Amino acid sequence: MPASFYDRMSAELSAIEAEGLWKPERVIQSRQGAAVQVAGQEVLNFCANNYLGLGGDERIVEAAIQATQRWGAGLASVRFICGTQEIHKELEAAIASYLGKEDAILFAAAFDANGGVFEPLLGEQDCIISDSLNHASIIDGVRLCKAARKRFANGNIDELETRLKEARSEGARTIMIATDGVFSMDGHVAKLDRITALAEQYEALVMVDDAHATGVIGPGGRGSAAFHGVEDKVDILTGTFGKALSGAMGGYIAGRKPVIDLLRQRARPYLFSNSLAPAVCGAALKAIEISKGPDGDALRDKIARNAKRFRSGMAEAGFDLIEGGHPIIPVMLYDARLAQQLAAKLLELGVYVTGFSFPVVPKGQARIRTQMSAAHEDYHIDRALAAFAEAGRAIGAIK
Ligand SMILES: *Cc1c(COP(=O)(O)O)cnc(C)c1O
Repeated sequence: MPASFYDRMSAELSAIEAEGLWKPERVIQSRQGAAVQVAGQEVLNFCANNYLGLGGDERIVEAAIQATQRWGAGLASVRFICGTQEIHKELEAAIASYLGKEDAILFAAAFDANGGVFEPLLGEQDCIISDSLNHASIIDGVRLCKAARKRFANGNIDELETRLKEARSEGARTIMIATDGVFSMDGHVAKLDRITALAEQYEALVMVDDAHATGVIGPGGRGSAAFHGVEDKVDILTGTFGKALSGAMGGYIAGRKPVIDLLRQRARPYLFSNSLAPAVCGAALKAIEISKGPDGDALRDKIARNAKRFRSGMAEAGFDLIEGGHPIIPVMLYDARLAQQLAAKLLELGVYVTGFSFPVVPKGQARIRTQMSAAHEDYHIDRALAAFAEAGRAIGAIK
């Protein structure tokens, strides 16, 4: 028994705790929603990606039950062996049609979609240019691919152009720009109008991960490219059913047919992982139906009203917020321990939020990332504002 190994694990755990970087898991004793039960107490939830409020929605639960009854609990197979049912094809068609793409392919998670998208499409002669704040799953996916890699500082279009020029002068066969559609820690929307214009100029492809955007921003909730009016200029879209579109789980890649066809043959997380559970497909199908219809627009209007109310109340209380129009509203504390303390105090006051620190955000940039949902009512927002003011004063984060 190599005791030194286990000693090293214990030492690392102690160091994480000592630096204030420990991420506790709180056990929720209810469905997801505007209010949840934690440790026997009802608390208001402001840290879920439950933008449309569908996570605990009865219509989604019912759709998941019906899908399970019709199609069973699962397939016990990857898609290409004996794991493809009509409901999988139906979901692929529904998400592709919602996003205005020719076809789509499902994955167990967006993490897998991003992990599997680059390697089959690009090789040694190609180059990927990636935003520095891209999600961990894009970073890992790029690492798994043999293409040359370049990075540009978050949202820095001049630097992106420099990288495009470099890639062209180095003779790259295909260049792909990869970016989050909405940056999850800041809530900023990628400048896809300018990125796609540059892509055209330098004949590059554009890949966008719209995990925090699909169902949330843009006309019809069609995401960051739609928000900027450049939907047809994005070649590859990845996303999740684990956020606005039901909150269950599952990821996808949408794009032109030959791309999706090739991914079906070669994407490793698709070839070597079980097909999505029918319950997940049923939930996602219902969520897409809601999101693309008039109910979806009403829900998005409500999110926007909630965000506005929360932002103005927090600014008035003296908190330092990152500017933006997305329902992600980061409250900056900078210090990891202070962020943890504020989150702990807020939980005592009945408001559930999470402190984010390194490695999820850069060192010295600790924050509480609040997220608005269509499930929140005005009185939820007002109670959260009062709790933030009280907790913020108690720990000295505001005067
Ligand atoms: C949440 C998220 C993912 C991962 O989605 P899962 O389906 O939960 O794996 C990928 N990319 C971005 C930008 C995300 O925010």
